[in-house]
Amino acid sequence: MPDKIQSPKGTHDILPEDAERWQAAEATVRKVMDIFSYGEIRTPAFEKSELFARGVGETSDIVSKEMYTFADKGKTNLTLKPEITAPVIRSYIQHNLGKKSPNTKLYYIDSAFRQERPQAGRFRQFHQYGVEAIGSPHPEMDAEVITLASESLLALGLDNLTLKLNSIGETESRTHFRNALKEFLSPHVNDLSETSQKRFEVNPLRILDSKNPDEQALLQNAPQISEYLNEEDKAHFAEVCALLTECKIPFEIDTALVRGLDYYTRTTFEITSPELGAQDAVCGGGRYDRLVETLGGASTPAIGFAAGIERILLCLESKGLTDEKSVSHVYFVAQSDAARNTIIPLVHACRQAGVHTDFDSLRRSMKAQLREANRLGSATAVIIGEAEIEGGEAQVKNLETGDQTVVNFKNLPAHLVALQI
Ligand code: ATP
Ligand code: MG
Repeated sequence: MPDKIQSPKGTHDILPEDAERWQAAEATVRKVMDIFSYGEIRTPAFEKSELFARGVGETSDIVSKEMYTFADKGKTNLTLKPEITAPVIRSYIQHNLGKKSPNTKLYYIDSAFRQERPQAGRFRQFHQYGVEAIGSPHPEMDAEVITLASESLLALGLDNLTLKLNSIGETESRTHFRNALKEFLSPHVNDLSETSQKRFEVNPLRILDSKNPDEQALLQNAPQISEYLNEEDKAHFAEVCALLTECKIPFEIDTALVRGLDYYTRTTFEITSPELGAQDAVCGGGRYDRLVETLGGASTPAIGFAAGIERILLCLESKGLTDEKSVSHVYFVAQSDAARNTIIPLVHACRQAGVHTDFDSLRRSMKAQLREANRLGSATAVIIGEAEIEGGEAQVKNLETGDQTVVNFKNLPAHLVALQI
């Protein structure tokens, strides 16, 4: 026998029993997005590699280590999207969406691809939902996006969440801070880990993310970004904090929160769950006032977030929250070979009426069919044999109570629809 082929490392199939949870989560996200007046956008699975190099930044982990890049037959360099903000902004510019509305509010539910070491809560193909609000530089937009992130996670059933908030200022403030941080770290460079030494050269702010305890201790005395914010940065951040407080959204200020992507300006935020262990971020986002311009559009401020759906479902699982089947199921049971043919048009009529139903196509015994009904969790069995065909009536059996009623074939769809309500 030929070898079995397994799915690639870090990917996973979503099987029918799990797909229900995904569908429920996606439906919840869509509902919340609708309430907040965001419209859906869908972008291609791959983009020109240049988009991410320019949009996400060459020094980010994503671009420097994690991308799936390949040349197509025309030798164009393409990349499976590792994040969805840059593609959405590319599309926003390409289709001139800013012309249609000065404040464009978009959401997506999509796959992302990153070549990372697979572990709990970290995959190579994973799913995100997120938003991009493009057009407003004002703190009320930050507040809306953050309240939307928080509200959507609550609607999905998460609790015990921590919202961490920071401002990394405008480009200029950050340059001053970067210089101060480099100056502070330079006497210690040789003691830093290999990763941090590299970051020291290319992207020193990322050292603040270090999980290494020695580096954490060293960073205790490092300069803080808050000391380097200009007056406008500070006023903006104060207003965002005040608005969140008024919306009764609790948050913690975390001055080490710089986030991994180069395009952020001012507000950055992350939402974490204690249910998740090491990979505890369910959602990350921030303002990116320079990205539209960097990607060739007119200078336009924007803010967004992305939430990881696998991690959200992991949280719900660890809380024992799994969706029960909500609609009752009907199983058709044939008592004889002649009945097998009688069943087909009846099943079809019931399905057309919206009844969730199935039948046995393996020509199994009546006992095996009832076992299958049980396995499927069917609430009702419709039993048809010789006598029923003759009388034009079916036995409708409640599989929980065992109660049985006789229903005319013609009335069957309406009868079963009524049972489902
Ligand atoms: P992390 O610090 O966990 O690597 P990140 O900063 O790389 O996260 P973002 O790029 O902000 O993550 O993506 C937003 C969200 O997408 C994360 O908060 C997380 O929930 C999810 N996510 C990111 N990478 C992965 C992955 N490899 N597998 C599963 N989910 C992921
Ligand atoms: Mg990452």
